[in-house]
Amino acid sequence: MSLDLTAPQILKTDAIALRIAPFSRTSHVVTWLSAEFGRITTVVKGACRPKSAFLGQYDLFYCCELLFYRHEHDGVHAIREVTPLDTREALRADWRRVVTASYLADLVSRVAQPAQESGDLYELLDETLVALCRAPPTLGTMLQFELSLLQHQGVLPGFALCPTCHTPTAAPWVRFAIGAGQVRCAHSTPSTAGESVLTVHREVLLQLQRLSQETQHYTAKAGDQGCAQEPLAPHLSLGLWRFLGIFIRSHLDTPPGPRRLALELLETDPARFGGATTGDS
Ligand SMILES: [Zn+2]
Repeated sequence: MSLDLTAPQILKTDAIALRIAPFSRTSHVVTWLSAEFGRITTVVKGACRPKSAFLGQYDLFYCCELLFYRHEHDGVHAIREVTPLDTREALRADWRRVVTASYLADLVSRVAQPAQESGDLYELLDETLVALCRAPPTLGTMLQFELSLLQHQGVLPGFALCPTCHTPTAAPWVRFAIGAGQVRCAHSTPSTAGESVLTVHREVLLQLQRLSQETQHYTAKAGDQGCAQEPLAPHLSLGLWRFLGIFIRSHLDTPPGPRRLALELLETDPARFGGATTGDS
C-alpha cells in the first residue's frame, strides 16, 4: 500500500502564524507551526487584495484553524480557509511583548521541521504566547523558553558541577565544553582535542540549572505569572544571556542577529529587564 502523493489532500489543523512575508504584490507566504504537521509553509494568493476572504483572518502570533491543500510532505501549500481562534490582542498593546514574541516565533520557525508531529513545541509556544498576553516579558521568560526548546531538541546542557572541584570555596570559574554540554574538570570525561571550552562563572551555571528546573513546572505557572517566579540576579543576567546564546548558536545553528536585537530592544528598560531597580544607571 502506498500513499498517493499526486492527489492534493485537504488537511485541517490549528496553527500559530510564525512568519509572514510578501510573495508577490498581492500575496503572502505564511509560515505556521501546528502540533500535527510541524512547520507548514503556505502561500495565500491575493491576501492583500481589498476583497480578499483572508483579510484580517491571520496575523503574526494568531492561533488559527487552517484548511490547506497538501500536495507533498514538504514544500509550499495552498490555503483553502483560515479562521482566527485566538488573536492575542494583548500582545500588540506592548512593544516589549511584540519584540519577545517575534524572537520566539523566529526561533521556532528555524527549529521546527515540516511534516513532523510537533505537539510539545506547539504547546510550548502557545503557552508562552498566552503567558506573554498576561504579563510583560523578563529575561527569565526568554531564557526559560530557550531552555525548554533545547530540552525538546534533546540538547539541554548538563549544568551539574563537580562536587570535588567546584566547591563554594574553590575559584568561581568553571570550564564548560560547549559541544558536549557539560562542565570539565579532572573527574569528568577527558576533553577531546580541539574541543571548544568556555570559562564561565559557577553562579551562571547554577542559575541556569535553577531555571531549567523551574521550566519543568512552567506550564502550571504560565497561567498566572507567565515568567520566572524569582527574579534573576542582575549582575548575572548578561552572563546567563551570553552563555546560553553561545550554546544555542552551536547546537541549534541559529543566527545571532534576532536574539541580539531582542535583547538590545528590551534592555532599554533595565527596570523591567533583568530585575535591576531604577535609578542605578
Ligand atoms: Zn572534578
